[in-house]
Amino acid sequence: TPTLRLDRLLANMGYGSRREVQQLARAGLVTLDGAAIEDADQRIAVSRDLPDRMRIQGKPLDPPPGLALMLHKPLGVTCSHKEAGPLVYGLLPERWRRRDPALSTIGRLDKETSGLLLMTDDGNLLHRIISPRAHIPKRYRVTLDRPLKGDEAEIFAAGTLLLEGEDKPLLPAQMEALSSTSAYLTLTEGRYHQVRRMFAAIGNHVTALHRDRIGALTLPGDLEPGQYRVLTEADIDLVL
Ligand code: URA
Repeated sequence: TPTLRLDRLLANMGYGSRREVQQLARAGLVTLDGAAIEDADQRIAVSRDLPDRMRIQGKPLDPPPGLALMLHKPLGVTCSHKEAGPLVYGLLPERWRRRDPALSTIGRLDKETSGLLLMTDDGNLLHRIISPRAHIPKRYRVTLDRPLKGDEAEIFAAGTLLLEGEDKPLLPAQMEALSSTSAYLTLTEGRYHQVRRMFAAIGNHVTALHRDRIGALTLPGDLEPGQYRVLTEADIDLVL
């Protein structure tokens, strides 16, 4: 476990400047296992269970660095600072937006796509999941404008489909019809607007798109749009 000085740890987690954190500690407002840590120079072992053991002004510490979480992304919020509209980061506690290292999304969903979005401050984890060589399956529930014709699953599975403006065929993708106008589509790559463009390429049109699974990690039914949950090691193992 890495260790960090208390003032640096808490400042990096957005609790205030190092000076402000030193004052909090001196006032006895930072406790570890029930005892005040008045000296902010003290080195703290940064482990995942720290929120169970450390209190700041009586409240459990936020999850320390090495954090990963799942968000149920609602429609109408964006993953990118380059797009107009409210950002997914605005759905997290205000202090979490001042963290260093900062949280970033693991891949992206379109503004008009809902569902499972992962976030982390761990660059290693980020790269293990989004690496083009990782081929982690991502499942989407697709709602369509026009009825399925019946040949879509075969076309997507062939691994020969070309998207408009591209010269590299898509990898095979798995489609399972749910009704005449809805299906699950599972991709192992992530090109720009890929699901929408796949159906456009075969003459249909996506009217609603929702991601419900990454790897073997499924969006929990009780996680409402806009809500998030911190991932356990076991959850992360399900993704990879
Ligand atoms: N494919 C899309 O078209 N949009 C997404 O948000 C994700 C996959």
